[in-house]
Amino acid sequence: GAEPRLVRQGEPRLTVVSGPSGVGKSSVLGEVRRQAPEVYFSVSATTRPPRPGEVDGVHYRFVTTAEFERMIAAGEMLEHARYAGNYYGTPRRPVEEALAAGRPALLEIELQGARQVRRAMPEAQLVILLPPSWEVLVERLTGRGTEDPEVVRRRLETAREELAAREEFDAAVVNDDVQVATRELLGLILGSDR
Ligand code: 5GP
Repeated sequence: GAEPRLVRQGEPRLTVVSGPSGVGKSSVLGEVRRQAPEVYFSVSATTRPPRPGEVDGVHYRFVTTAEFERMIAAGEMLEHARYAGNYYGTPRRPVEEALAAGRPALLEIELQGARQVRRAMPEAQLVILLPPSWEVLVERLTGRGTEDPEVVRRRLETAREELAAREEFDAAVVNDDVQVATRELLGLILGSDR
């Protein structure tokens, strides 16, 4: 039979945050990081090249495809996915160590990865960050202006798929106001301990 999804009081938990590109994940998560330094932010491995300003080991661990595939084969990934032509994945060890040390842990990953975490760690809570409306998201994605129209088109398609999967998540936070969204997300990450 299925194990009950019991989370003991005060037990540190794993929260997965997903949400379409353009929803404002980095603003909200930047605030979470600032307001709750006790939260462990997982550093993903990726095969995509660093963007200007991104630091290896801080924003991502930038690895070759061969190294990424070695990590998968060695069972070092809690989850992994291909997204826009690159691999992304969560190294398992640091997350387990943070939880064992009593820190709540947070993964910011896309939908396929969130589904794998659901299977691997049923006690994890899955949170989706939503735009106030589809129109606002389209505006934010096209309004950046700097992006190739084909890239924007693909992001909108992925966004539509992610929004269609919202029922798979345990909670949804609407990012209309960054401070309000941060407060709601922090409540979920920290539970009633704070
Ligand atoms: P970006 O290249 O813009 O930093 O990230 C692209 C997408 O990959 C985002 O939706 C982000 O949430 C997702 N992502 C980042 N790290 C991981 C990871 O470790 N695993 C999975 N499955 N997705 C990730």
